[in-house]
Amino acid sequence: MTVETNVPLARLTTIGTGGPASELARPESVEELEELLRSAAARGLQVIPVGLGSNVLAADEGVDALVLRLGGELAAVEVRDDVLVAGGGAANAVCLHRARAASLGGFEFACAIPGTVGGAVWMNAGAYGSDLRAVLDRALVVGAEGSGWLGADDLGLEYRRSGLQPGQVVARVELRLTPRPQAEIRSVVADLQARRKAAQPTNKRTFGSVFKNPDHELTAGRLLEACGLKGHRSGGAVISPRHANFIENAGGARSADAVALMAEARRRAREQFGIELQHEVQLLGPIEVHG
Ligand SMILES: Cc1cc2nc3c(=O)[nH]c(=O)nc-3n(C[C@H](O)[C@H](O)[C@H](O)COP(=O)(O)OP(=O)(O)OC[C@H]3O[C@@H](n4cnc5c(N)ncnc54)[C@H](O)[C@@H]3O)c2cc1C
Repeated sequence: MTVETNVPLARLTTIGTGGPASELARPESVEELEELLRSAAARGLQVIPVGLGSNVLAADEGVDALVLRLGGELAAVEVRDDVLVAGGGAANAVCLHRARAASLGGFEFACAIPGTVGGAVWMNAGAYGSDLRAVLDRALVVGAEGSGWLGADDLGLEYRRSGLQPGQVVARVELRLTPRPQAEIRSVVADLQARRKAAQPTNKRTFGSVFKNPDHELTAGRLLEACGLKGHRSGGAVISPRHANFIENAGGARSADAVALMAEARRRAREQFGIELQHEVQLLGPIEVHG
């Protein structure tokens, strides 16, 4: 199995920032994945699976870790009766396409979540009133100590988090879907995508939501808008003028620019609303957000 060294994470993240990963491998089977995890554990090297990099911010200094991108059978998708079986590296868009072709509904909410199903389990990704927990039957989780199938309850799926531990990799998922006419699925997806396009900077380089919604009548986006942060800039990064819970790479941004904006957002939310915002984006490597 080829292991590349010093691979820029900017190439693997949707925001397009981040220094080098010390190692990158692309396992294509559970056996290859297990072997890589065992070897990393023996060397005391951290392992970080990355899907489409659509909710990560990686340190500019780089990350001393073995970064994994799942491919081959670990990104394959098939439908068995009303169960969609997908490798953890399969894109949500491909899963949705296959589900629709089989006239199976329930995964439409993921149409505007640009990630993989493995990343979606880790994040318990969701939108429009649904999330992974609503459709996940079980997931094959691989770690240095071995592999096993975990049911949705055992995965500890809560609002934008799971109970999985660093080093555990979602290698395969089974989603239980329900029969739905293809035309209905197509129409729901078109509607959700239009709503998304109207509200969010879908044509910019971002990592999706910066902060989780707080326990407050205002969402994180509305709160930061009320703090006057739309269009606020640091270096090459800017708080989206369209939706204040997104940070755009306006050209030449570094992760440090995004971190500076996150710190400013946290400071203003605390000062103006008494709220401690918690970040949703996953930080890779030595990054700390003060403020
Ligand atoms: C324009 C835009 C819109 C978005 N809208 C939404 C939305 O509506 N709802 C929402 O929930 N999110 C949204 N996101 C965020 C993001 O798409 C989701 O969090 C997505 O689930 C991340 O998947 P990924 O494969 O890209 O994971 P990554 O971003 O690559 O990784 C995210 C985390 O998951 C871990 N991970 C990745 N793959 C695996 C695996 N196989 N096994 C174990 N851990 C893994 C990573 O280590 C990291 O901690 C949006 C992002 C963008 C850019």
